[in-house]
Amino acid sequence: MKLKLSGSLLRPTIRKELIFGVTSVHAVLMLIFIVGLVTRQHSFLLERARERTLHQAELLAASAAPQIISKDLAGLSEVVDSLSRDPTVRFAMLTDVRGLILGHTDPKHSGEYLRDEISRRQLSQPARSSIVYQGRDMVESVAPVSIENTVLGWAWVAADLRENNQQVAAVTRAGILNACLAVAAGMLFALLLAASLTRQLRLLLEGADRMAHDNFDQPVPLVSSNEVGVLTRAFNRAMRKLRSDRAAIEKAHAELQAANQAIQHANDNLREFAHVASHDLQEPLRSVAGFSELLRRRYKGKLDDQADEFIEFINAGTIRMQNLIRALLEYSRATASGADPIQPVDSGAALRIALDNLNTAIHSTGASIQTLDLPTVKAHEIAVVQLFQNLISNAIKYSKDHPLIQISAERDQAYWKFSVADNGIGIDPHDQELIFHIFKRAHGDQYPGSGIGLAICSRIVERYGGRIWVEAAPGQGSTFYFSLPAAPE
Ligand code: ADP
Repeated sequence: MKLKLSGSLLRPTIRKELIFGVTSVHAVLMLIFIVGLVTRQHSFLLERARERTLHQAELLAASAAPQIISKDLAGLSEVVDSLSRDPTVRFAMLTDVRGLILGHTDPKHSGEYLRDEISRRQLSQPARSSIVYQGRDMVESVAPVSIENTVLGWAWVAADLRENNQQVAAVTRAGILNACLAVAAGMLFALLLAASLTRQLRLLLEGADRMAHDNFDQPVPLVSSNEVGVLTRAFNRAMRKLRSDRAAIEKAHAELQAANQAIQHANDNLREFAHVASHDLQEPLRSVAGFSELLRRRYKGKLDDQADEFIEFINAGTIRMQNLIRALLEYSRATASGADPIQPVDSGAALRIALDNLNTAIHSTGASIQTLDLPTVKAHEIAVVQLFQNLISNAIKYSKDHPLIQISAERDQAYWKFSVADNGIGIDPHDQELIFHIFKRAHGDQYPGSGIGLAICSRIVERYGGRIWVEAAPGQGSTFYFSLPAAPE
């Protein structure tokens, strides 16, 4: 199965981050480099143009001095003309100290006066060479024509910077082209790097996805030895361990299931045995009881006193045995696993049924029952009725004068904890565990009973995963607690 790693275009991935990162770094570096290069180139060319015009102005001034002295205008024009052949010179001229143009590369200006502000200001400056004007397209220099500290005039040379500008533009264009190439190369490099870096990662993610779908059999192929490769190796080890653990768990689970089935089977057998035995024993016992009753009625007072006493013993014994067998039958029925599904049961309604069933005992003893709102639990209604019935009938039976019974429930995590409290004779701490075992009793024969009720209660709560216990002290009443799973709200 192919794992989908590219969801939305906007979702960040290592590949995208790498490409973006490397490309941005390249672009920024190239920008810095081009701006630096162009600026350097521009200032270099400008500086060269400035030096050259200055030099040319000084040369012009030096070569024009004799002609100015001799007022040789034709000679001056020739000197100036020599510069017009230089393509970098836009114009050159010679003026006298007042600004009268004596010679110009454009002859039509000869005889004019310099009128512009910059030039006129220069005429009043001390006699030394300088740059008079520097613009985008032109730089102009001036040098004094002097002999023995006497200024005779000025030589002016203006250089054309357009060619310089063209050169700078060409350098800029070449720089941008190279930058684009470098950025493209960076992008390609990032793509290759991302592919090699993320390949192992993608395989690892596919492996994790397989593992999430319970497939532990196919290890992740190892295509790299970097940190992701090390992680992949660890992942494969974990996968192998999980596979073997899972096999062990499955084996243990199967064994547990088999054991459970065996226990269930044994329990069923035992229950069936208890049922059959108690059921089948009833028949011969009924005959024994019938005949001993017959014996009592027919021969009472006709044999000697001891014979009467023996017959009474036989009668009492058979009655006790009948009670025990009935209790055993009841117990085997209570613990039989019912086929009905476990459902939400209103424990308040179950309590009302139990109280109805105990109506006679409640009235004859004047028992007072107090109860709060009771919750809904997950169980069978008949089982909850049986629990309340057994505990309340015990609370009535093992009471002093006026039984007072309080029933309530409180939440304990996933369970409801019920309590049935009485003001009866209480129970010795030594017997408090024992009484939940079958046929075990704590108070001797002055109270009727077979010792089966609490054993039944215990089996019932265990069946629903709950538990039952008692808190009591002799003479101070008892509180029986039991827990049942809470029904979902
Ligand atoms: P039975 O009541 O038939 O003897 P149970 O299994 O219901 O059987 O009770 C076991 C024993 O626990 C009783 O014999 C009695 O000694 C003790 N017992 C049960 N409930 C109470 C109670 N509410 N107060 C005091 N003792 C109790």
